[in-house]
Amino acid sequence: STFTGLGLDPLVVSHLETKLNISKPTSIQRAALPILLSSASEDTSSRDVFIQSQTGSGKTLSFLLPILQDLLPLSSLSYIDRSIGTLAIIIAPTRELAKQISDVLEAVLKLRLRPEGETLEEYESAPRLTRWLVSGLLTGGSTRAHEKARLRKGVPILVSTPGRLLDHLQNTSSFNVGKCRWLVLDEADRLMELGFEETIQGILKGLDGRRKLAIQAVEDGKSMEVGGWDWGRRLRTILC
Ligand code: AMP
Repeated sequence: STFTGLGLDPLVVSHLETKLNISKPTSIQRAALPILLSSASEDTSSRDVFIQSQTGSGKTLSFLLPILQDLLPLSSLSYIDRSIGTLAIIIAPTRELAKQISDVLEAVLKLRLRPEGETLEEYESAPRLTRWLVSGLLTGGSTRAHEKARLRKGVPILVSTPGRLLDHLQNTSSFNVGKCRWLVLDEADRLMELGFEETIQGILKGLDGRRKLAIQAVEDGKSMEVGGWDWGRRLRTILC
């Protein structure tokens, strides 16, 4: 099957092919895309999804592409309305992983990987899929004040490590998650192993009432208890 056949917007498909040289969906993408692309319009009880797949299987794009497609219509607003706040949050267990996800996201938003020899400034100034849909990375790598300033300007898609995210949810009044539509817990098993269970519970509480689509990408097939919730049982499971 093709990305178009899975329901991906032809504009995004053609950019994936011509700019990123990605034309054939991997098996996790074939399994996940139709479900995630349709889930945004469904009622909240059936929206949570649990993805299990191996490292290197393409799971990052399996959740980034549906998020992008879901948010793109909002970005066709004729003005840049950053006051809408943060619409998607992706949580990763380590700074390194958060940075990797952020790099993939930036590549898809620009739909072109930075070629060797091109400076970051040249890459940053290249045309984007949309000017509006900017992403941001919060990992505690820069100062809290700097991160707050970025959040105040508005970051529609955010990639973060758990501690820093909870910190901003609790302490940054201009961090607007009132319209957040997606929450992804990447490598959720590692999040639990590294002792982030309470932090995740706090984050879920901070986003309470706003339905989220939680995707758990797990390497080894364990199901998890988060906040007394057996995610493996309660979430729709996509295995690959
Ligand atoms: P991941 O498992 O998400 O870490 O992805 C592993 C690598 O596969 C990344 O370098 C992706 O850019 C690449 N990739 C993801 N999906 C595809 C695809 N459909 N075709 C070719 N490469 C892909």
